[in-house]
Amino acid sequence: PRHLLKDPSLLKTENFVGGEFVSGDSGSFAVFNPATNEEIARVSSFGKEETRKAIEAASLSFMSWKKSTPSNRSDVLRKWYEAINENAEDLSAIMTLEQGKPLAEALGEVRYGASYVDWFSGEAVRSSGGYMDLDNRRAMLIRQPVGVCAAITPWNFPVAMITRKAAAAIAAGCTFVVKPAEATPLTALALAELARRAGIPAGVFNVICGSNPKEIGLELSTNPSVKKITFTGSTNVGKILLEQSASTVKRACMELGGLAPLIVLEDADLKKAAVQTVANKTRNGGQTCISANRIFVHKSVADSFVSELEEIMKPMKVGNGVDSGVVVGPLINAAAVEKVKSHVDDAVSKGAEVVLGGKHLTELGENFYAPTILKNVSMDSLFCCEETFGPVLAVIPFENEDEIIERANDTDFGLASYVFTESLSKAMRIGEALESGMVGINSTALSDARAPFGGIKQSGMGTEGGPTGIHEYQNLKYVCFAAD
Ligand code: ADP
Repeated sequence: PRHLLKDPSLLKTENFVGGEFVSGDSGSFAVFNPATNEEIARVSSFGKEETRKAIEAASLSFMSWKKSTPSNRSDVLRKWYEAINENAEDLSAIMTLEQGKPLAEALGEVRYGASYVDWFSGEAVRSSGGYMDLDNRRAMLIRQPVGVCAAITPWNFPVAMITRKAAAAIAAGCTFVVKPAEATPLTALALAELARRAGIPAGVFNVICGSNPKEIGLELSTNPSVKKITFTGSTNVGKILLEQSASTVKRACMELGGLAPLIVLEDADLKKAAVQTVANKTRNGGQTCISANRIFVHKSVADSFVSELEEIMKPMKVGNGVDSGVVVGPLINAAAVEKVKSHVDDAVSKGAEVVLGGKHLTELGENFYAPTILKNVSMDSLFCCEETFGPVLAVIPFENEDEIIERANDTDFGLASYVFTESLSKAMRIGEALESGMVGINSTALSDARAPFGGIKQSGMGTEGGPTGIHEYQNLKYVCFAAD
């Protein structure tokens, strides 16, 4: 893939520790292009020992980084932000190759991922504590970096899921060790090279890849030098990491799975709702944790809404993300396709009707699944209990508006929800009653560096980005002064 890049030196296959690219003693693993299933590179694989060394490098650099000034942290983050933007095309090409999303979308993610670095470059100099009068004492509240932070990130947003954690940690004065997903190490390592060029000091940002996430995860979540663990991925792995990190009482931020409900009320603007719904379900081929898994549509408008969806979805071109005009790329791997297929087959066996798609597009390659619309999906289908992660719209009709909140909340997950209505009072009432960390009213575009992202219930804890994102990486210390 080097010939596809303006700057081939961004393609790194060794891990990044203590400011240098290094190989470990645990061999290497293959990275595949999900559009073709071709091997595109082999990357050094780290195990327990190498992970420990990376934590040591981060611990060593924390001794000096914690003393850096907020202005200094802000400056290096700004340089990293500029470096990411200047190399946005190469980063997107690397991302499309290993992750599959169409090039234009990959470029959008690079810009979005960079916006977190920009945001936290600003937050670095703005985040401070407080002061209180306590009768005959005075309280000074100060924010201090928590220490070495370990992150484990998923493959669906290979840039943004790293930058929104790393930039916040670096802004706070922490040092950072990230283990990206096995499917997308090359984007993470390119980010590391840009961090190096931007002058982020050695050991502040470290990237360790490996084919055995369990082994690396165990070390990251039990090593006493790590003070905080931040994870984005499945609820099952989140639970393992929480359990493992309990032995050393680490702080934790968990961004886990979702099962987002999207509710279309009788009075909704159906065109607007359809545009937003399709965008939400085709972004990254529906492989996002805020993708609507359950689309509840009032019975009286269900047929019209489904026609609107079909009109938008039908012309969407599916294919290799590097080909022009493609808007839906491959799913990440064969297991992902199997899962989507099983959800569709299950719904159909329970009475759902296929309006569009509903098939594995083997003529394009092993990992392609057609953008799909199902109607009359029943509440006992897999769409109502398991995250699907594919371009499938599961439309579930409902009659009674009073029941819809209960139905939407009938899940252990609570990440995102959406409501489409032209009624302000209904939007307020339902928006407040939905049990999720984020609610979109007439919009599915939730993600923004300036807004807090996070879930409740078994979708996780803590928020990223926004005005409180940096607090995740700071301890609030209270210093009490006698004043008499
Ligand atoms: P997904 O279904 O999105 O692949 P995972 O939770 O399996 O979600 O993966 C998210 C991240 O968690 C990846 O970086 C993966 O390597 C990592 N991971 C998977 N299993 C474990 C584990 N047992 N301990 C630590 N990290 C893990």
